[in-house]
Amino acid sequence: MTPAAAGRAERHEAWMRRALAVAAGTAADAPVGAGEAAPPEAAGPDLSASGPAGRAAPAGVVRSGPDGPATTAAVPLGPGAAAPTAAVPFRPGAAAPAAAGPAAGPAAGPAAGPARADADVPVGAVLYGPDGVELAAARNERELTGDPTAHAEVLVLRRAAAALGRWRLDGCTLVVTLEPCTMCAGALVLARVEAVVFGAWEPKTGAAGSLWDVVRDRRLNHRPEVYAGVLEDECAALLRAFFR
Ligand SMILES: [Zn+2]
Repeated sequence: MTPAAAGRAERHEAWMRRALAVAAGTAADAPVGAGEAAPPEAAGPDLSASGPAGRAAPAGVVRSGPDGPATTAAVPLGPGAAAPTAAVPFRPGAAAPAAAGPAAGPAAGPAAGPARADADVPVGAVLYGPDGVELAAARNERELTGDPTAHAEVLVLRRAAAALGRWRLDGCTLVVTLEPCTMCAGALVLARVEAVVFGAWEPKTGAAGSLWDVVRDRRLNHRPEVYAGVLEDECAALLRAFFR
């Protein structure tokens, strides 16, 4: 490995640790999105499309609600930050657990895991500028907000774009704990991010090399660099703990 590549790998690991902390809800100073509204206390009316009826309010998913880019706040310490046990594979080719729904991971409904239908799958994303400065961080908030598009990657792109006042995120690197789905892969191509760094593979819905490779489709005129499997074990362990 060249010194440059080694330096980059080291940087990616450090960034992934940050994304992991955001995913786990243990990040102390995640910037909360510029201009983003505070999360609703009891989210949308119902989530019948994605889960069991009677979804509880996101108890335990609490965060303070600053509203400016410069403020900091605790990322929700979701109930998902529990001890690992089960075995949901997050490697390409790994078999799916029998109990899982049509798709495990962030694109899956709560039915994918026996635990906590009201809790968000712990996926975290952080966007870094060309200079390596953190522009935004986000955790998957689909259940919290009742928004089917509230994946960590989409939220972090929105927050960074709002903070910068532009949609083009040239030169930026998106770091996420789980391989992006098609929606998120599409979004980060549209945002023109320079590179995507992800942790665990998502063989059932991944669109950065697993099921599809949207980000490097040669028919597209913008193709971010992809660095896969950074701190893969840690990232997968967090998800396994959630789906135990
Ligand atoms: Zn996604």
